[in-house]
Amino acid sequence: MHDVIVIGGGISGLTTAYNLRQEGYSVRLLEAAPQVGGNIRTEEMDDFRLEVGPHSFMGSSENVWKLTSALQLEVEAEPAQAASRFRYIYRDGRLHPLPMGPGMFLRTPLLSLGAKLRLGLEPFIPNGARENDTAWEFFCRRFGREAATYIMSPFVSGVYAGDVRMLGARAAFHKFWEFEKNGGSMILGAVKYMRAKRRRLAAEGITPRRGLFSFRGGLGRITAHLGAELGDAVRTGTPVETIIPTAGGFHVRTVADTFAGRSIVLAVPPAAAARILSEALPELQPEFSAIPMAPVAMVHWTPGPGRNGGPPGFGFLMPQHYDLRVLGTIFASQLFSRRAPAGSALYASFYGGMHDPAAMALSDSELTALVTSEHRHIFGDDALRPQVIRIRRYPEAIPQLLPQHPERIAAIEHQVQQLPGLFLAGNYLTGVGIEHATESGYRAAAACSGFLRSPAAEGAR
Ligand SMILES: Cc1cc2nc3c(=O)[nH]c(=O)nc-3n(C[C@H](O)[C@H](O)[C@H](O)COP(=O)(O)OP(=O)(O)OC[C@H]3O[C@@H](n4cnc5c(N)ncnc54)[C@H](O)[C@@H]3O)c2cc1C
Repeated sequence: MHDVIVIGGGISGLTTAYNLRQEGYSVRLLEAAPQVGGNIRTEEMDDFRLEVGPHSFMGSSENVWKLTSALQLEVEAEPAQAASRFRYIYRDGRLHPLPMGPGMFLRTPLLSLGAKLRLGLEPFIPNGARENDTAWEFFCRRFGREAATYIMSPFVSGVYAGDVRMLGARAAFHKFWEFEKNGGSMILGAVKYMRAKRRRLAAEGITPRRGLFSFRGGLGRITAHLGAELGDAVRTGTPVETIIPTAGGFHVRTVADTFAGRSIVLAVPPAAAARILSEALPELQPEFSAIPMAPVAMVHWTPGPGRNGGPPGFGFLMPQHYDLRVLGTIFASQLFSRRAPAGSALYASFYGGMHDPAAMALSDSELTALVTSEHRHIFGDDALRPQVIRIRRYPEAIPQLLPQHPERIAAIEHQVQQLPGLFLAGNYLTGVGIEHATESGYRAAAACSGFLRSPAAEGAR
């Protein structure tokens, strides 16, 4: 019998398994896919290095750095290239750089004069925080409708591939929502928070890291490293069907085998968690299935040797109301070095999301035609001839945190506690980024370790 069986080998499950193993517990990690990493996957193809999943994590990601340092991977960390600080938003036929300072803000045609004045009034707008605000209601109240349309809603689409009118402000933008609730202003709250964080890091002797990061060999380095550290504790190609509570812990059933564990950490997306718990906790089915997942199709393409399609920068985002279907495009070879062969460029465009799930049914040639026509228009280059390198479709890419999400997660966790020794990890719990997923892995490991040391678990030996 293992001390713990971790189900799911994305960054959440790998972080959990790694930490529990470091504490000396016997761990088995079961992963359905042929490799670990989950959404995080770096592939080498025709001299291109493709991130067929997330491209970067934020320098402020404390849990990712903690893990990086434990794995001695800090030497491989790579900050984003300087040019990538420019980000663009499409408005009325062309890309506009996102203002990076007061001068640029005053001059940008991205917002009208009235919208700029309204945005500047944010600190004086009365505190109207309500538990069930959608992100749209929240951003309109704080910044005005035009800024919500041209800045916040593209940002929502970039992070969640989501619909700003569906997502809950408290759930999906918790810190922003709390800044308003606790101080009345999001801008002043953010400034105060950043100052306090800088002071705390300085007191802890930590130099804050700004901007975006990856690793020299791509983000897949961190999950590959975790997989290697776990060694033969990992079984890939092993989808779990169900778990059954027993007197001494749990039985975990796969097609071919049954594994016994004193505890379980379930680190899979909500739909898989619902299936795996269908016998042990059938009452959780409706809760898990009420968490929508945005579908995403990701197209990697190159404009061909010697051609560089877009302006210098990180990429662009598309406001939701245009007829163009692209959600946004990352200028991957400008973001990090060694992503494309010399003289060539690499782009990653996103289609689908909650607004346009039908894009998932588009064939490869239809997606190629869309990438071509839309980027010719957006980059203003009729001669652009994108060559598609790789298309990856995620039917269930990113969890959508709706207004009632915190209560739903509390209800799920309450039910899960009815089975001592069962724990959850994953990016649907408190946030959808790599930092949140890693944090959930640390939390699950700590909770599971606490359980394994408790008298309740001693009885299950
Ligand atoms: C296209 C895309 C782009 C993104 N971009 C960014 C970004 O730039 N920055 C950022 O911070 N975040 C980004 N994210 C989010 C980030 O990738 C995720 O939050 C994170 O990778 C989720 O990790 P996880 O371990 O919680 O889940 P997953 O990565 O989904 O891992 C879950 C694992 O469980 C396995 N599994 C499922 N069912 C079973 C079963 N029955 N038995 C065994 N195993 C099972 C799956 O195969 C998978 O490996 C992006 C996500 C997507 C989809």
